[in-house]
Amino acid sequence: MIVMKFGGTSVANAEAIVRTISIVKGRLDRKPVIVVSALSKVTDLLYRISDSAEARDRKTADGYIDALAERHTALARELLQGSPLCDEACAKVTEICGELRDFVGAVCSLGELTDRSKARIISRGEWLSSNIICHAMNARGIVTHFMDAREMIITSDTYMKGEPDMSEISRRVPEVVAEAYEGADAVITQGFMASTLKGETTVLGRGGSDYSASLIGMALDAERIEIWTDVDGVRTADPRIVPNTRNISRISFEEAAEMAHFGAKVLHPMTIEPAVMKNIPVYVLNSMNPEGEGTAILQNDRIEDGVKSVSYKENILLLNIFSTRMINVSGFLQKVFAIFSRYKVSVDLISTSEANISLTMDGNQDIDEVVKALSEFAEVDVDRDKAQISVIGKNIVNLRGLLKQTMTSLKDCNVYMISQGASFVNISFVVDRASMQNAVREVHKYLFEDRDYESGDQRIR
Ligand code: ADP
Ligand code: ASP
Ligand code: MG
Repeated sequence: MIVMKFGGTSVANAEAIVRTISIVKGRLDRKPVIVVSALSKVTDLLYRISDSAEARDRKTADGYIDALAERHTALARELLQGSPLCDEACAKVTEICGELRDFVGAVCSLGELTDRSKARIISRGEWLSSNIICHAMNARGIVTHFMDAREMIITSDTYMKGEPDMSEISRRVPEVVAEAYEGADAVITQGFMASTLKGETTVLGRGGSDYSASLIGMALDAERIEIWTDVDGVRTADPRIVPNTRNISRISFEEAAEMAHFGAKVLHPMTIEPAVMKNIPVYVLNSMNPEGEGTAILQNDRIEDGVKSVSYKENILLLNIFSTRMINVSGFLQKVFAIFSRYKVSVDLISTSEANISLTMDGNQDIDEVVKALSEFAEVDVDRDKAQISVIGKNIVNLRGLLKQTMTSLKDCNVYMISQGASFVNISFVVDRASMQNAVREVHKYLFEDRDYESGDQRIR
């Protein structure tokens, strides 16, 4: 069995979906389990719907729901023109959007939007896309059975970022898939969407469909997990901000996990973890160029050493904690981290000096409580104008001169913190947000563009 996950751009419109279906058709002999995201930009629209509901602005929310219904109905019509399944697919869209309208109406009158309600709203994109694509596949002669991800992907009740219950998932996925596969050529389910044990809808965090695919792959002990997206694979940097990036043909699980964790949006940060548990290769492939080689993410010992990629995080928080009391006092760090742990705030980078601890973390996290608790025994300074750049590669610690070369390319900006991961897979720098884009380009240029990457002739000396 293989898992094939198609992201938003791979299912953005009828043309993309037809292409996606033909890719699946070429893999039917490998028993694909298809995982789909919402159509491109639909989750953003659902966020706007939930914001309007929270603001009790029913008129705006209704306008957005009309647009949602129109886009999906038009898509179903285009894909299913002339098919007896067309009416059924359109009726399903009307039913889902109608339920959403009622639910949003109730939230507006209540005037309170809990995370539980929000997860219900923003998961509707995957519910809509998977229904339409399932019909479109059946209409094209591929007998495809539909699975509700909530019956198999079980998470904690942190509704907007559910933590997977690995043992429930491992038990349920094979059962649900085996049952759905009876008499079918393929089976399809939703990415991103999950459920608590009590059956309440949760989601896996933005970009979470990749994670759904790898959880399913793990539970099925799949032969491979394919992440189909809109780029030719994992690249040396984000092609949206860096010109002249190159495709990486193979990287290790560890490198891919670090890249994703340190900002490369091509994969959800948690995608690699389940794959590693069963040593399942993950392929990143381009649905617009299905013949392309893509990137293979494999076990560490099959990957050569060296710099692979530069990633960045634009929205980070730099927290500086000052206290003379930490000098020579054991237990200070423990006290600090107990606070982060209590409020479930996770930290990326850390560096300490005698009377100061600097930490970076994702800027979307709510840290008010953490700052309050820390302020009881230390001076705390929060800086939101910083960004983080990470150079990633296996055993980069062995590349003499890497730090010097990277620092040379960062010569035009202030560097507030440098941190080398204990895993020797990444070195990260904190710079001003305003200079980040240019700095990423410079670092990339220095490390990749001025050397012959294919022959492995690294510029680093
Ligand atoms: P999908 O909707 O298929 O999940 P995403 O937009 O989440 O697609 O991820 C693919 C995008 O990730 C690419 O279009 C690219 O702009 C971005 N990206 C960021 N860093 C990298 C990288 N190092 N390699 C490839 N793509 C990257
Ligand atoms: N649709 C969700 C999002 O946009 C999940 C995903 O695409 O992976 O975040
Ligand atoms: Mg994605």
